[in-house]
Amino acid sequence: MQSWSRVFSDTGTFKDGCTFCQRSGIAHYILKETPTFRILADHAPLVPGHTLIVPIHHYTCYGDVPAALDADLLALKQEVQHFFARYYAPVSFWEHGVFRQTVFHAHLHCFPFGDTYYNPSAGLHEFEVHELQAKWHQFQQQEINYAD
Ligand SMILES: [Zn+2]
Ligand SMILES: [Zn+2]
Repeated sequence: MQSWSRVFSDTGTFKDGCTFCQRSGIAHYILKETPTFRILADHAPLVPGHTLIVPIHHYTCYGDVPAALDADLLALKQEVQHFFARYYAPVSFWEHGVFRQTVFHAHLHCFPFGDTYYNPSAGLHEFEVHELQAKWHQFQQQEINYAD
């Protein structure tokens, strides 16, 4: 079990055994490096273009990264946004926080998922639930038929 002291005590420095703290281990994936952050190609991309923005120093999650780095982070987010707009699709940023991480070092996932649209006047909540239930029911019937 992860202890709170381990999760929250190692800030603003490097941590032994941490993948993102050992530059040599990730050097192949570095797209850009600044005094405060690196942009990395994800080593196991979930979609083409999947990149990470990772602070140089060890912070457990972005909630732990000092506000003094906000401007640097914003500039890199905008750079990834422009890169994706040219070569992929509009960016979605995502961070999963300290729990269920596979690497306990802050990293912002950048996915070129493209735009998603939500029209609150379309009654989408009810429509989605109804449609999802109908599709699920159909899927279950087909699975039963396949099993026969
Ligand atoms: Zn680290
Ligand atoms: Zn992650």
